[in-house]
Amino acid sequence: MNIDEIRSYCLNCKNKPCSNNGCPLNNDIPTFLHEKDLKKAYEILCNTTVLPAICGKICPHKKQCEGSCIRGIKGESVSIGEMEEFIGKTSIENNYKIPMEIDEALKSKKVAVVGGGPAGLTCSAFLAKKGVKVTIFEKFDKLGGILTHGIPNFRLDRNVIDSTIQKILDLGIEVKYNQILGKNLNIENLTNEYDAIFIGIGANIPTKMNIEGEDLNGVYGGNTLLENGKHPDYKGKRVAVIGGGNVAMDVCRTVKNLGAEEVYVIYRRAEEQMPAEAKEIEEAKQEGIKFLFQTNIVKIFGNDDKTVNKVECIKTKLVQKESETRLSPVNIENSNYLMDIDYVIMATGSKPEEGLINDFEKNKYGYINVDENMQTSIEKVFAGGDIVGEKSTVAFAARSGRNASEKIIQFLKK
Ligand SMILES: Cc1cc2nc3c(=O)[nH]c(=O)nc-3n(C[C@H](O)[C@H](O)[C@H](O)COP(=O)(O)OP(=O)(O)OC[C@H]3O[C@@H](n4cnc5c(N)ncnc54)[C@H](O)[C@@H]3O)c2cc1C
Ligand code: SF4
Repeated sequence: MNIDEIRSYCLNCKNKPCSNNGCPLNNDIPTFLHEKDLKKAYEILCNTTVLPAICGKICPHKKQCEGSCIRGIKGESVSIGEMEEFIGKTSIENNYKIPMEIDEALKSKKVAVVGGGPAGLTCSAFLAKKGVKVTIFEKFDKLGGILTHGIPNFRLDRNVIDSTIQKILDLGIEVKYNQILGKNLNIENLTNEYDAIFIGIGANIPTKMNIEGEDLNGVYGGNTLLENGKHPDYKGKRVAVIGGGNVAMDVCRTVKNLGAEEVYVIYRRAEEQMPAEAKEIEEAKQEGIKFLFQTNIVKIFGNDDKTVNKVECIKTKLVQKESETRLSPVNIENSNYLMDIDYVIMATGSKPEEGLINDFEKNKYGYINVDENMQTSIEKVFAGGDIVGEKSTVAFAARSGRNASEKIIQFLKK
């Protein structure tokens, strides 16, 4: 469908289920979609998001906006993601600006944002729009968080990320690079200098499975490999990627592109339960990646020099457990088998960096605890995105950043 066909396919529903039930950012979908003046359509999107070209491309639309689209009940849902990406890209090509909405009462206020990923960037933009002086403190020499240091180029164009970030910085935001909370940056100094602080440092440390052999050479964390890009030489090697989400898909395809001979994705549930988007799974299959569904890994074996040479797998069956919403995998006794493998990459989840957030009260899952005002246990300090245990998607992190900006503004006006 072309843009006009997508537009006329949308029923312009009065109760907007796509916006109200599906989109984490509550973008006003039918209104931007039916607006033919593309600058105005972009400005409608800017009321709720500053990342349209990015979210339009990589949000799990089928689980979010398109999953709630009325058209989807009997047929195909409206291609909302495609429209959002189109408008986002048009805004880049035509240099449309994010509209300012200056509030004179906020012009003397200074806010520090630690972390320049989707949560930090969105919080910064919604504060700067109102006239707040924002400084972002970023660990790396580039902004974007996982968008820049995680999601591979073949899925998200670097120019789109950079141009989207530039629009945000054009709101008058200052950036200090190579500033690392816990090393050359501390909360106390920031609270002395700024009226409020937002922490959006993500939670990108790979979790362990706690199985035998996990400490052998040749076992890697998927997030770490994608973040620092320091891969071993995969040429002619057999690689097992454990997990079924975005990280597993991005890492298996990256490894295959880098020349691995065989790449296996080992996932303990069935294909239809994979958290990754169906499109990503399909593309991975087409690129020659092999999927072992309902399979668990129980042990990793090594050579005398402690490098990986085999993994032990076991088949699983799926059972409904009380109080669980989805089917749980249970190992099938005596179904174990061995596979020759050179590298194992864990993509089974991530968590906050050890020790980094010890100054804060944490929730039971180990993330920074925030109250209903997104305030942490430290006076003047707010937090959002993956570091507070958000749903680990770009749109949820962005919403969290936007919500925090609203709470920070209320705080600054007290
Ligand atoms: C490989 C991969 C693929 C993904 N694919 C998708 C997808 O397709 N769709 C989707 O919706 N979501 C996806 N996600 C999830 C999504 O990227 C995250 O939920 C989102 O980026 C979280 O945003 P954030 O701002 O909270 O954290 P991050 O994006 O992690 O950003 C945190 C920022 O803080 C900085 N920082 C960290 N520590 C410090 C410190 N000590 N001092 C100063 N700065 C610091 C980091 O450098 C970074 O810039 C993916 C995640 C991964 C890992
Ligand atoms: S639910 Fe679907 S058809 Fe209805 S307004 Fe939203 S996009 Fe259009």
